[in-house]
This record gives sequence, C-alpha cells and structure tokens, in this order.
Amino acid sequence: MRIFIYREPGVELNLASIAGYLAGNGARVELRGSFFSRFANLQEAAGKIAGMRISDPSRPAVEEEPLYGEVKYELRVLRGEARPGGVVYDGFLLQSYMRSLLPRQEVGLDKLHLSVTPRLLATFDEDDRRYHLRAIILGYPAIISTSGIVEAPAKPKEFYLQRRLLGEDALAEARIKQKLREKLLDYGDPRMDEVLKGYALQALFYQLFGEAFCESTRCRLYNAHWQEELLAAQLSQPELCEKHKKMLERWRSTPP
Ligand SMILES: [Zn+2]
Repeated sequence: MRIFIYREPGVELNLASIAGYLAGNGARVELRGSFFSRFANLQEAAGKIAGMRISDPSRPAVEEEPLYGEVKYELRVLRGEARPGGVVYDGFLLQSYMRSLLPRQEVGLDKLHLSVTPRLLATFDEDDRRYHLRAIILGYPAIISTSGIVEAPAKPKEFYLQRRLLGEDALAEARIKQKLREKLLDYGDPRMDEVLKGYALQALFYQLFGEAFCESTRCRLYNAHWQEELLAAQLSQPELCEKHKKMLERWRSTPP
C-alpha cells in the first residue's frame, strides 16, 4: 500500500509524524504538498471550490455559479495567501472533484490519497435533512479537515453550560476552554497530532477493509461524537481493540 499525504495551505501541523506513524504500520508513505497545486489549474479549482459553498444547511448544495469575489478569495486560499475561515463546503462535492483530478496512473486499490485541509466540510444527512460538519470524508481521496476535528465533535456539556453562565465573549470562552482542557480540543492543540493519526488510520482501514469505525470507545477507530470521547480514544492505550489490531497485523504480514 502506498499512501500519499497532501497538505493544503493553512494546515499548520507537521504531518511528518502522521507519515511516520502510517509507515510504522506497514505502508509506504509519501508526503506531498497541496493536492490542487499538483493536479489542478488553480484558477479553475478556485471557481469549482467556490461553487461548493453551503449557503443553506437544510438544503443539499448544488454546484452554483460563484461570485467573482468568492473565486478570487478561493484562489488566495489555494495559494496560501488567505485563511479559509468559517466558510463551509460540501465534502462530497469536493471529494468527487478531487477524484476527477487524479491521473489514472495514480488511482488504485493499492494507493491511498489522503488530503489534509483546513477547510470546514459538511455532508448532507438524508435522515434529518441537514448538513453536519465532518472531521473526515472517507473515500477516494480521503479528506481530513483540521477545523472539522475541532468543530464537528461536540464539546463537553459543561462547556455549553459554563458558556451560558459566563457569557459568550472571547475572554469568557478562553477561560472555559482552559478549565476544560482535559476534555476539549482546540485549534493549535498539541494533541492534534495524535488525533490526526486516528483519522488517518480510519482512512486506511476504510480503503483496506471497507470498514472504518469501531464500537469500542478505546479503539482509534471509534467514531466519536464528543471531543471528550475523541481524546480518550486517540490518547489512551491500547491503540486498537483486539479485532482491529489483528486485522492490521494480518495485513502487515501478508506479502503484497
Ligand atoms: Zn476497533
């Protein structure tokens, strides 16, 4: 298995430790720069991505003709001249666009493409007819959103309670986050590296076995809905439950 990791502009993490982790699990890993700089014309990509913005969370997005200013902004984000900010994009539209950009010789079951982006991504849930923020979009390519890791899993209940008590201004919020730091993940958090490894592992399992999630709260494949659960699953030992540990070991010991 070869794994290509792409780092989009605005991702402040050092992805070398994730690459090393995956390599330690038996894959050949290559760190690449931006996916779009490599495979797309940036001007064209900016237009496409601008059309994937979600304007109404209760309606599936259709690719729309973007405004001139939006395209210009996306181009700056792609070039690393602007931060992607609070805009939310349709994760499946982005994924299928990225898939269309991959050259044929780069596509295969023995090749995993994993893009790490700072953009906020959401997918539409047919059950409750709403968009939900995602930390990861599984599939081809797999996309991990660093802002999604912070924003998608719910913060501890105490966070919302404290915020109601102390107010929603930035100072109060910083104080609450400090108080709850054991249970809460924030931007620039040093534990982000470990958390990212878990999501990368989910992408790998999905590609290898078609399954990415686990019921065990201590397994790195646990599909956490709360930040507290996410931190517990990613930072505790053992890394994987027995079943998933065995699956990974069996795969590692099978010659290609
Ligand atoms: Zn498991």
